[in-house]
Amino acid sequence: MRNDPPREKSPERLSFTRTVFVTVVAIIVSWTVTSICLFVLPLDPAYTEQFAWPTLTIATIVPFLVAIPVTIVLQRGRLKLERAMRELADVHAELERRSRIDPLTGILNRDAFLKQVNQLRVEGTNGAMLMIDIDHFKMINDQYGHMAGDEALRGFAGALSQAVQGRELIGRLGGEEFGAFVPCEDMETAHQAAERLRLAVNRMIFTPRPGILRRVTASIGVAGGTPADTLSELMRRADLSLYEAKAAGRDRVIVHAAA
Ligand code: GH3
Ligand code: MG
Ligand code: MG
Repeated sequence: MRNDPPREKSPERLSFTRTVFVTVVAIIVSWTVTSICLFVLPLDPAYTEQFAWPTLTIATIVPFLVAIPVTIVLQRGRLKLERAMRELADVHAELERRSRIDPLTGILNRDAFLKQVNQLRVEGTNGAMLMIDIDHFKMINDQYGHMAGDEALRGFAGALSQAVQGRELIGRLGGEEFGAFVPCEDMETAHQAAERLRLAVNRMIFTPRPGILRRVTASIGVAGGTPADTLSELMRRADLSLYEAKAAGRDRVIVHAAA
């Protein structure tokens, strides 16, 4: 047996049905009141005989003339309100999206990234924090200008986004520094994920000016921990690893095992 979902009535059809319903109710009420006046109240029978049909005719026409325009006006108001509420919901969704997304790169901003990492950890997910920093980024700005730097940041975020897998998270922590969270039980998995991201950045082709191809590299600090460690402790250790990666010559991954 086919189980088709019930078809929703269009607003116009709904509006028409309501108008008919209100008009019929108005006529019934009008007829009832008029009939009580004509036939129940003690009126002169000659008067009733003379005026019954004209009065009932008026009692039919007047509700038509009143109910139809009134329901049309009310329906229009209701449709306008519904449209306004839909627009409000769209604006709300867009504001909510903007509060989570970094406008330059289109990936999670710092707050949203850390919130999602926290959520995973509260749910009991073990994992490693990766601090990812573009190497010598200032030189790109200095050589090719801030706009080219912005383009590099967009390309960098795009390369990271394409390289993440499964439940891994990435976000822009600020400036040319990004974060990643890798759900895992051992540091070898976290190390491999960090290498995957680093190589994805290495493969990135950045053209700051027509005809000029530039390589971009990143240093990555990795820190593991259990959900019992605070997020700031995890980030502090990942930051130390990043510092070591920079000091050791950049374009590399340094892993800081759980304390
Ligand atoms: P290191 O390898 O040690 O990380 O060197 P670096 O040059 O990458 O780091 P440094 O902290 O010296 O410079 C970071 C630069 O990133 C400086 C800042 O102007 C630039 N920057 C930060 N945010 C943005 C941005 O949104 N757009 C652009 N174009 N540049 C940015
Ligand atoms: Mg840097
Ligand atoms: Mg930096």
